[in-house]
Amino acid sequence: MSASVTDFVATEARFGAHNYEPIGVVLSRGEGVWVWDTEDNRYLDCLSAYSAVNQGHCHPKILAAMVEQAHRLTLTSRAFHNDQLAPFYEEIAALTGSHKVLPMNSGAEAVESAIKSVRKWGYEVKGVPDGQAEIIVCANNFHGRTLGIVGFSTDPGTRTHFGPFAPGFRIIPFGDAAALEAAITPNTVAFLVEPIQGEAGVIIPPSGYFTEVRELCTANNVMLVLDEIQTGLGRTGKLLAEQHEGIEADVTLLGKALSGGFYPVSAVLSNNDVLGTLRPGQHGSTFGGNPLACAVARAAMRVLVDEGMIENAARQGARFLDGLRDIRANTIREVRGRGLMLAVELHPEAGRARRYCEALQGKGILAKDTHEHTIRIAPPLVITTDHVDWALERFAAILTQDFS
Ligand SMILES: *Cc1c(COP(=O)(O)O)cnc(C)c1O
Repeated sequence: MSASVTDFVATEARFGAHNYEPIGVVLSRGEGVWVWDTEDNRYLDCLSAYSAVNQGHCHPKILAAMVEQAHRLTLTSRAFHNDQLAPFYEEIAALTGSHKVLPMNSGAEAVESAIKSVRKWGYEVKGVPDGQAEIIVCANNFHGRTLGIVGFSTDPGTRTHFGPFAPGFRIIPFGDAAALEAAITPNTVAFLVEPIQGEAGVIIPPSGYFTEVRELCTANNVMLVLDEIQTGLGRTGKLLAEQHEGIEADVTLLGKALSGGFYPVSAVLSNNDVLGTLRPGQHGSTFGGNPLACAVARAAMRVLVDEGMIENAARQGARFLDGLRDIRANTIREVRGRGLMLAVELHPEAGRARRYCEALQGKGILAKDTHEHTIRIAPPLVITTDHVDWALERFAAILTQDFS
């Protein structure tokens, strides 16, 4: 008994909260860069679950690690030690050059944990008067959906009717170091920022911005918190996007691809001071640091490095970007990207990006629109030259049409 696409869609609409507007495809299987729908149509995944499946769908080594660990031990809580947490700490610290690690589950939880930690650091190390800590964030940010986070969003849809919100955040334009300098006060504890604004439409800051940001944060004893939940783990062609800027954050947030898409795993990585302020009982999570999550994350990090996915992202990303830039279509306003984090911004007159994504679906490509006029392209990092060329042909065919 096989339900049809319309059955699945209708049942979701009937029972589910309507907080998403998915493209009309019902997926049932994935392997590498490909996913298949319930009717066995194959698609090249150009979203990768918002960069959570950088390692490709159902990577066999991550799968094996998950199944093996699931047979042995899945959850202990942090009331006891488990034999996966210590090696996870060692391996993620070695990979990223971090001193301390706080394991959580979702990306938003990592962001919330970082906010709590930098505030505590501000009071106990920097000497900010209690209750006065300020955190600077950027306009058009995306850091997740919890109450603390949506309170400093600038997107009306994200915020409206969810208040009242927590105070203590200042919003400045992204890519503007002078605005950061002007916003810093003696009570500023941190600057929380994405290296590239993903949800905002793959917005890359001007070159030199992060060098100035780093200098300003250091000079003012402000913790630089980089949200690398989307940009991290190879997506931009480096392990961390900060490496393109030649800087190091004080606090780095990872999530999404930290599990290769198998399981929610996130982490706050920091210097000794920030996470060093947390004492027993002051922060926690039942599932954070559980042995299944740790085993999955260890395998997900290992394959990323061992299989050369980061270098591949740099190589294929450059090819994809060049190919997109070569498409001569008057629908295109701008093509942007770094590594395999790419976007095509359409002219407003070309019509909504969603129409182009639906047309791409008809050609065997799944991509996602963002902000009305931008098509975001982020395939798994295991994509090959043949896949890229195959995709480019289809993008060219669709982008030269006009859906206005
Ligand atoms: C996805 C994302 C988050 C939130 O992660 P969730 O796992 O959905 O809570 C935070 N920051 C950035 C930059 C993201 O892309």
